[in-house]
Amino acid sequence: MKIVFCAPAIDAQPWVARLAQAIPEAQVWPWSPAIASREADYALVWSPDDAFFAGQHRLRAVFNMGAGVDRLLGLPGLPHEVPLFRLDDAGKAQQMAEYVCHALIDHARHFDGFAAQQRAGLWRELAVEGRTAFPVGVMGLGSIGARVAQAVASFGYPVLGWSRSRKLIAGVESRAGPDEFDAFLHATRVLVCVLPLTAQTDGIVNAASLRKLKAGAYVINVGRSAHVVDADLLAQIEVGHVAGAALDVFDTEPLPGGHVFWRHPNIRVTPHIAANTGLDASIDQITAKIRAIERGEVPSGRVDFGRGY
Ligand code: NAP
Repeated sequence: MKIVFCAPAIDAQPWVARLAQAIPEAQVWPWSPAIASREADYALVWSPDDAFFAGQHRLRAVFNMGAGVDRLLGLPGLPHEVPLFRLDDAGKAQQMAEYVCHALIDHARHFDGFAAQQRAGLWRELAVEGRTAFPVGVMGLGSIGARVAQAVASFGYPVLGWSRSRKLIAGVESRAGPDEFDAFLHATRVLVCVLPLTAQTDGIVNAASLRKLKAGAYVINVGRSAHVVDADLLAQIEVGHVAGAALDVFDTEPLPGGHVFWRHPNIRVTPHIAANTGLDASIDQITAKIRAIERGEVPSGRVDFGRGY
């Protein structure tokens, strides 16, 4: 069995070593242009080089080393006849749940305001609204979003979830499809985006959708930057309908030094750290998926090229 690793932004050495250890019968190597024509049965990729797929003609499966496949699907030369799998969770859902609960509680309990007061040496209570005043709407109830929604619900916040198909998740009111999107927005004050980026979800957090949220809305984006129309978000903060936002993903990363988000008093910026792909958990998953394919089974996490996720 031959496995090639192509993720130019990631140090290949530990991944190749761990994979070779997990599947001892496999030959595993990091891709480079010099050996581009060396063909493999399986490929592990993350934002691979444009030339990568041109040299691979016998792949049995491609594994994307993350949950979001939007960049990969845009790559010219990606073979659509080869099954593509994304990582189901690999520890990301729990991290994402922590990120969203932290951003939500930081905002709802004014912890951000208390931090500012401490810097000013100010001892003063701030009036806090109860949890029922902050209904949370989670867009995307997949392997990550479902965990996020459950975690938020466990703190006693009212939680709605929106996805393509209806879900049964304890403590979460499920809304599904475009027909129920407006009702979902009208019932939401804190909007959390954990959607994949597709033609249908590009720019979904825009002036029209933001205006439908409850007054004093708050946006938490841990999906992709293109989900949010930045100018519309800033305009809704400006007019006071949206109180602020916690953003983890940006059109240009690192966020350029002069960007308005850096110094905006109502916007929290984090450097795309909401959830990282853990090496060990990822290797375990990829190993299990390869073993399943070798047994003739279809593992979970297969990307539907038509849906775009
Ligand atoms: P997933 O398991 O594929 O789930 C996607 C969810 O979105 C599903 O519930 C799906 O509905 C829903 N959905 C997709 N298109 C929709 C549409 N047009 N209308 C309504 N709902 C729609 O994905 P995941 O693993 O949870 O990951 C979600 C995204 O998080 C990734 O694609 C990536 O962009 C982002 N992410 C960000 C970070 C970070 O560090 N910031 C890290 C990891 C992932 P159905 O269930 O009905 O199919």
